[in-house]
Amino acid sequence: MSSGLDDLYGGGPKMKEECGIFGIIGHEDASAKVALGLHALQHRGQEAVGIATWDGHQFHAERRMGLVSAKMSDEKILDSLPGAAGIGHTRYSTTGDTVLRNIQPLYADLDRGGLAIAHNGNLTNSRTKRAELIRKGCIFQTTMDSELFLQLAALSRGMTMVDKVIDSLAEIEGAYALTILTQHNLIGIRDPLGIRPLVLGKLGNAPVLASETCAFDLIGAEYVRDVRPGETVICHADGTVESRQITPEPTHARPCIFELIYFAKPNSFIDGDSVYELRKRLGRRLAKEAPVEADLISPIPDSGVPAAVGFSQKADLPFEMALIRSHYAERTFIQPSQKIREIGVARKHSANAGAIAGKRVVLVDDSLVRGTTSRKITRMLRDAGAKEVHFRIACPPIKFPDFYGINTPSRDELLASNHSIQEMRNIIGADSLEFLSLDGLYKAFGKGPRDDDDPAFTDHCFTGDYPTPLTDQMQAKTTAAIEQLSLLAESS
Ligand code: AMP
Repeated sequence: MSSGLDDLYGGGPKMKEECGIFGIIGHEDASAKVALGLHALQHRGQEAVGIATWDGHQFHAERRMGLVSAKMSDEKILDSLPGAAGIGHTRYSTTGDTVLRNIQPLYADLDRGGLAIAHNGNLTNSRTKRAELIRKGCIFQTTMDSELFLQLAALSRGMTMVDKVIDSLAEIEGAYALTILTQHNLIGIRDPLGIRPLVLGKLGNAPVLASETCAFDLIGAEYVRDVRPGETVICHADGTVESRQITPEPTHARPCIFELIYFAKPNSFIDGDSVYELRKRLGRRLAKEAPVEADLISPIPDSGVPAAVGFSQKADLPFEMALIRSHYAERTFIQPSQKIREIGVARKHSANAGAIAGKRVVLVDDSLVRGTTSRKITRMLRDAGAKEVHFRIACPPIKFPDFYGINTPSRDELLASNHSIQEMRNIIGADSLEFLSLDGLYKAFGKGPRDDDDPAFTDHCFTGDYPTPLTDQMQAKTTAAIEQLSLLAESS
């Protein structure tokens, strides 16, 4: 295995992941609450789970590969995590890089005490910074970008742990929502643009932090507010919460639009709005923009359901289930090869011939990425007797990759990046294919049309308008260009 700087800039260990984070302080049985909270956030990451607690004398941690319900709900495990303060993390990485040392929370002993950290989001300058720190003698223990927070906090001269953590942020670019456990506090941090979500709640008197409000519902906590972009909240065991704005509150907060479209659980609320209702609005808007003569509307379950409900209500067409989803199939999206992805789609969805034979069917999905799902499903529905199959997608074509934790593939794999809508329709084999417009998307969310000078969201997947510098990408390109030049020089 190579360990040179090339790895850090380019083809080396990838550091992408999707995640859910949680934290609580001032509540006995913190570990049980963290496990329940993480269970509610399981849709954000299914590959690995970790919990760290502080019992007033020492830290405890457990990290396991697998689901929270299978690996973190055993009484013995929870008993091995005593204390009234804890944080947790569910992880969904995209590469073969999931090994125990890469499971969060990460932990380090600094000169002011211990620090455990759980991170959701991706940093866009982590490889560059990491290479810089390695050159200076820092020793990294994982291949995760999240370790940068620990390394930079360790280098800080700040007098308190909170100061050290805040210092580390000055050198970091990209997306981050963090829950951090120290010997004194639970800390929550959201990046200056608020790209990834983080919400503050209360269980009795105990402050709680989570990626989404659905985690509060499961443990019976009350929602207090969303953590603001660029805000650090410092939660104490007595229930008090201090707030420090690490950057001047940005006039350009840009939360990720894809959280609302796909990623968040429908029963969550983001900035006070029901995700389910927002997605229904996308469906209604889509029905208005791209109507179709048909007999029924069906979602591609599960993520297409709210938009299909909205579409069917607006179009005044019956809502039916053209597909039945297996609850025993794993996720198909991030399988390593296209062949396995296709088998995955077949295992996940079955056509419901009784509902669709001889019918003109409109299938509504939240998004189209590689086209694997839609291609397979069109064939399935036709084989089961559907007369026509129309696709309606409740967001615009995804043309640009994500670098902030949503994990869409590179441009080569994005169907819309390389094909017109007509070509995509042909590839999918549908009778028609339409997408929601960008302005329609903003209008459905009550923020539109899109203000190009000050967009309300980061919508880079659709526009290529990335809200932070892409330092690692630039660096990788420069390194590749230098290598090319030296190869040319050698051969001449
Ligand atoms: P594809 O089959 O590649 O076109 O992917 C589209 C399907 O994947 C849709 O049904 C989405 O619900 C789902 N999807 C979209 N984005 C993501 C993501 N970042 N992670 C996992 N699934 C996704």
